[in-house]
Amino acid sequence: MKQIALLGSTGSIGTSTLDVVAQHPEDFAVVAMAAGTNVDLLAEQVIKFRPELVSVAHAQTASALQERLGGRAKPQIVYGADGLAQVARHEQADFVMTAIVGSVGVEPTLAAIEAGKTIGLANKETLVSAGPVVMKAAREKGVPIIPVDSEHSAVFQCLQGERSEDVSRLILTASGGAFRHMGREELADVSVEQALAHPNWSMGAKITIDSATMMNKGFEVIEAHWLFDLPYERIDCVLHYESIIHSMVEYRDRAVMAQLGTPDMRVPIQYALSYPGRMELDTAPLDLVKLGTLHFAAMDFERYPLLQLAYECGKAGGTHPAVLNAANEVAVAAFLQGAIRFLEIETIVRKTCEAHQGVGNPSLADIFEADQWARSHAQEMYTVGL
Ligand code: NDP
Repeated sequence: MKQIALLGSTGSIGTSTLDVVAQHPEDFAVVAMAAGTNVDLLAEQVIKFRPELVSVAHAQTASALQERLGGRAKPQIVYGADGLAQVARHEQADFVMTAIVGSVGVEPTLAAIEAGKTIGLANKETLVSAGPVVMKAAREKGVPIIPVDSEHSAVFQCLQGERSEDVSRLILTASGGAFRHMGREELADVSVEQALAHPNWSMGAKITIDSATMMNKGFEVIEAHWLFDLPYERIDCVLHYESIIHSMVEYRDRAVMAQLGTPDMRVPIQYALSYPGRMELDTAPLDLVKLGTLHFAAMDFERYPLLQLAYECGKAGGTHPAVLNAANEVAVAAFLQGAIRFLEIETIVRKTCEAHQGVGNPSLADIFEADQWARSHAQEMYTVGL
């Protein structure tokens, strides 16, 4: 029985993880879980999965959860950053699924690594922001980081049984997001609702907006750099509209391995949990005959300047990716609140990155300082006017 600590249980990845757990009650159990403020859903999850420890964002949320549970379940309830870290290092947990959103995931991920837990990494902002520190900690502790992001899971699956020196390049696929059929001139007045309508995947709000701006692919390029230890010149992106090929690895003999399947995050989530084995999963089989055709197009870096910026920040290294991430978190939150327009996300992120004086070979403290600086800078930009 694998004991799981789940960070972000009420989110899109969190609920899919619980669905996988519910399909395999003999193999998986949830020993600890953390969420933010969605008390209704969290109470249902606690009653169903019976974790021993639960963390929420604030003290008031903890009281509300206690009240909602009544006598129906009696987990220990904690809160805040310390609560998240307690869940991440719960002594009975073997595996920590990091599925909270944003760079708030860095500290609990490091706590889990420190405690020797296997990491299922969905929270890509952790590696974007603090890649060098997190990978060094994982190496030193001998802790495996198993990718959950569908593209990285695909690459990870394509690498099984191969030698790393034979890899020529990674090819990450991108659906193009909600506005893939629109030119830049049409993007000025798009609404939040339109941006949230992803063509292929049902995901949390932040990553859905990141998909529409292509920032998400930029983050994935940086994530792939850290996970698979490849230079940016050997990580390519291609537009693939159907999200059936989840990503590919090209080897030096030009053989290309691809991982395919219907878009369902439970597949990479379950693979991370069952790795190196595989298990049955109640999901739709891939019907290539019904699909008939798969479409591809070259990535357009002028149409998606944030992807270009991500490559630049990734190559610059140091604290630049942390600034890219933090500015983007602020800008996306502002867009979701209706405070800025869609294309202003790009302006805020680009100008914040341009204003940053990077620190090379950063410590965790340098990264957090850069993150805070970027948040203030981005916030000020949209409050005083762009
Ligand atoms: P959601 O927005 O759906 O869920 C986020 C989760 O994090 C919720 O459970 C939320 O709790 C919790 N949370 C947010 N802030 C805090 C906090 N301060 N303390 C504790 N919990 C917190 O996000 P997704 O599931 O879509 O994405 C999660 C991560 O996985 C992201 O990094 C994303 O990039 C990545 N990812 C997601 C994919 C997807 O298909 N959704 C695919 C690949 C990667 P609450 O709602 O209760 O406030």
